[in-house]
Amino acid sequence: MQEKTVFELIVEGKVPCNKVLEDNDFLAFEDINPRAPIHILVIPKKHFRDFQEFEPELMAKMTAFIQKLATLLGLDKSGYRLVSNCGKDSGQEVFHLHFHILSGFKNSSKTLF
Ligand code: AMP
Repeated sequence: MQEKTVFELIVEGKVPCNKVLEDNDFLAFEDINPRAPIHILVIPKKHFRDFQEFEPELMAKMTAFIQKLATLLGLDKSGYRLVSNCGKDSGQEVFHLHFHILSGFKNSSKTLF
C-alpha cells in the first residue's frame, strides 16, 4: 500500500497545521513554506492524488468552500490567485489534491513561480 502523504496525516490529526477553516469535507491551512504574504492550502479530506482524479461533484462544494475562505480573509475584495499543480511535470510535490491560495503581492518583493 502507498505511503500516506503529509496532507492525509494532517487530516488525521497526526501532523499539526495552522488551520484557517474547516468543514466536513475540506480543510484550509497555512503553507509551511509561504511563497506569498498570504499562502493557504485547501484540501479535500478524502484522498485524491491530484486534480485529474478529483470528483466534479466535490469540486462544486470545494468552490463554495474556497469562496467562503476568501471572503473570511477579505480576499474577495483584494484578490487572490488559485493554483493546483497536477502531476509530476507540473512540479506537484505532495500527491494529495490541493489548491494554493496566494495573495498580498501588491507590496511584496516576493514573486510567484
Ligand atoms: P505542490 O508543489 O503543489 O505539491 O505544493 C505542496 C505544498 O505543500 C508546498 O507549497 C509546501 O510548502 C507545502 N507543504 C508541505 N508540507 C507541509 C506541511 N506539513 N504543512 C503545510 N504545508 C506543507
